[in-house]
Amino acid sequence: MAKKQFKAESKRLLEMMINSIYTQREIFLRELISNASDAIDKMYYKALADESVVFEKENYYIKVSVDKDKRILTLTDTGIGMTKEELENNLGVIAKSGSLAFKTENEIKDGHNIIGQFGVGFYSAFMVADVVTVVSKAIGSEEAFKWESKGADGYSIAAAEKATVGTEITLRIKENTEEDNYDEYLDEYRLKAIIKKYSDFIRYPIKMDVTSHRPVEGSEDNELETYTEEQTVNSMVPIWRKNRSELTTEDYENFYNEKRYGFDKPLKHIHISADGAVVYNAILFIPENTPFDYYTKEYEKGLELYSNGVLIMNKCGDLLPDYFGFVKGMVDSEDLSLNISREMLQHDRQLTLIAKNIKNKIKGQLQSLLKDEREQYDKFYQAFGRQLKYGVYSDYGMNKDVLQDLLMFHSSTEKKLVTLDEYVARMPEDQKYIYYASGESVERIEKSPQTELVSDKGYEILYFTDDIDEFAIKMIMSYKEKEFKNVSSGDLGIEADENETSAEEENDNKDLFEAMAGLLSGKVKSVKASKRLKSHPVCLSTEGELTIEMEKILKAMPN
Ligand code: ADP
Ligand code: MG
Repeated sequence: MAKKQFKAESKRLLEMMINSIYTQREIFLRELISNASDAIDKMYYKALADESVVFEKENYYIKVSVDKDKRILTLTDTGIGMTKEELENNLGVIAKSGSLAFKTENEIKDGHNIIGQFGVGFYSAFMVADVVTVVSKAIGSEEAFKWESKGADGYSIAAAEKATVGTEITLRIKENTEEDNYDEYLDEYRLKAIIKKYSDFIRYPIKMDVTSHRPVEGSEDNELETYTEEQTVNSMVPIWRKNRSELTTEDYENFYNEKRYGFDKPLKHIHISADGAVVYNAILFIPENTPFDYYTKEYEKGLELYSNGVLIMNKCGDLLPDYFGFVKGMVDSEDLSLNISREMLQHDRQLTLIAKNIKNKIKGQLQSLLKDEREQYDKFYQAFGRQLKYGVYSDYGMNKDVLQDLLMFHSSTEKKLVTLDEYVARMPEDQKYIYYASGESVERIEKSPQTELVSDKGYEILYFTDDIDEFAIKMIMSYKEKEFKNVSSGDLGIEADENETSAEEENDNKDLFEAMAGLLSGKVKSVKASKRLKSHPVCLSTEGELTIEMEKILKAMPN
């Protein structure tokens, strides 16, 4: 049987596509600018292959202009242009990407800079415009052509006048409706902001005529005049592509503030240029302060994700494990598989590799902070230590190996936060366990009778004052082969403790103990004599897994 081609109702398809693949209208500008940048890149590749074409970077730019009264937005580029056939094939055939074809035909292997690949971005213009006109003159051609369309109705092509090589795209911006406001796409400041947001790192200048006011020269009564000035809106060279040695701490801090990652100063930055199994650049920041909503459900972790300098996602959560959710910053990679809207990613190997890589870099940075800049680490721990402890506890302790070396607890002997490693290194030979005591505060724990015996023995005790502490430690179980032991547990592994109560003592006070147990019935399991008490007459102790503090926390939790 002969195979038949599918037919498509192209009008409907176009409408469906335009209105369903993009979640935000403003990205039409990103798409058109990306196309213009591709067109200039093609000039560059042409010049490499053809000696008669000269590529001088300063001659290439993209210009955005508005005519508010006529509701016209124009994008001009000095790129390679399109012939009549190319207008027909590239703008008349949905899902045909001239840019992808260009890369294949010219066997461009390092053509990562060329952004286009799906052949749909151009049509996003119809989200904001009811008429789109493209006038283009291709390189090596004497004639120019005009392509025009009102969207679903189809398009027309006719001869046109254009002096220079390149493309000019004119959008007639839609009228406002009751639900939708389109005026914003005629507003200079709004347009500038959209360009900054998505296209800041396009490698060619994006120019705009910007209106400002200035005092009239010679005027005495502060008279102002309006004037327009051409400005380059984008910063072009992204900081993450620059050489680390060229950049100062201040450069990174400026970037942090410009990007509004936080209003504080970053505590530390990490600049990664990875060139291995996966190629990417990243600039990450460890903030100094806990964001006000950090420990709430509202907080959303994630890094900005760029594909080739073009913003794809504002917050890509998959790039950060929860326990490093405080990290801010961005990742740029040319190796990502994007989906058609460029707003989402296929969950691919690349992304997983980058995430894993980033996790290790953050851990490495924190470890060196701990080792070399303890004061800074203390500050960091103050803000985000709790998150690390939650990290140890969550996912059934799966991440304890990543995190246990980063934990700190208050030490009874050092009177400051210490790591597990430091504790174990100081342990006398006869000490069997890592001792800890839980309580509301350092002061409260210090006064508690349970700590006496261990302290008198000269052993260090870690004070757990955070709800999560003991739960996290239960996940770790042991550190460098030393098990953790709560000072209030029955068997402390200390000699004086071994034969806790002699039958004699027990018998001597039998009546007293029975009377006490009776009074406290339902509150304690039994009343016993103990050798662990020094200056206190009595203390509570526990048997089994759950300690008193853990029970308190569990009871306080909502069911
Ligand atoms: P993509 O960019 O993914 O290829 P688009 O729908 O954005 O898809 O554009 C379709 C094609 O139209 C491009 O591949 C390119 O060949 C052509 N094109 C669009 N804009 C321009 C332009 N400003 N200059 C030259 N060619 C362009
Ligand atoms: Mg495109």
